[in-house]
Amino acid sequence: MKKREFLKTGSVLAIGSLVAPMVSSCKDTGTANPIADVSTISALASPFALPELPYAPEALEPYIDTETMNIHHGKHHAGYVNNLNKALEGHEWSGADLKTILQSLEGKPEHTAIRNNGGGHFNHSLFWKVMTPGGGQAPSGRLADAINATFTSFEGFKEVFSKAAATRFGSGWAWLSVSPEGKLSVSSTPNQDNPLMKNIAEAPGTPILGIDVWEHAYYLKYQNRRAEYIDSFFSLINWGAVAANLDGVEG
Ligand code: MN
Repeated sequence: MKKREFLKTGSVLAIGSLVAPMVSSCKDTGTANPIADVSTISALASPFALPELPYAPEALEPYIDTETMNIHHGKHHAGYVNNLNKALEGHEWSGADLKTILQSLEGKPEHTAIRNNGGGHFNHSLFWKVMTPGGGQAPSGRLADAINATFTSFEGFKEVFSKAAATRFGSGWAWLSVSPEGKLSVSSTPNQDNPLMKNIAEAPGTPILGIDVWEHAYYLKYQNRRAEYIDSFFSLINWGAVAANLDGVEG
């Protein structure tokens, strides 16, 4: 325990001194960004808009390259937003908040465009916020306690989450969610499905951390090496944002 505390303090100090200027500039952009956390994303309503990145597209180098960020945010995410707005034009769900839309998809196989693009908008809005330049430190406080209680240790969590991300066949996401019973769980979904989609996602709940494992998220830099990309993601995780998501989960 003492050794772990020492290592944690040591690495935080080292990283803090290296990236201090980046962190402060990121903070300025972050406060201007309307997408704050899962609760805020859940409450968005149509017409939806592409949120700004909470940092510069080059800020996640060397873990995620600038070109990938520009295409992923400016083309892929923008496409989901535009197509979601089109799918909701004149639709009975137009005006509903994004969480309600995702939760209403159960038993509605005809709403494929809303499922794919609504999930795409939610998932990417969350994804940008759970990463930050200079991230990757360990979680703390209530979140750390919950992770340790559920997965034995942070390393135990990392192993389970990385495996879920690595073994998701084809395109999809891996998640850390809070179940309806209030427990943490790791799961994955295909395509742009989201744990909020009841009776569609294998492990329903409120997502608080997600990694995009579509090839468009990593192929330019990592090609077929998805495991390396997943490992890099752990150097970017914004544990403060994940903790805020946990605090925002209702009930
Ligand atoms: Mn994506």
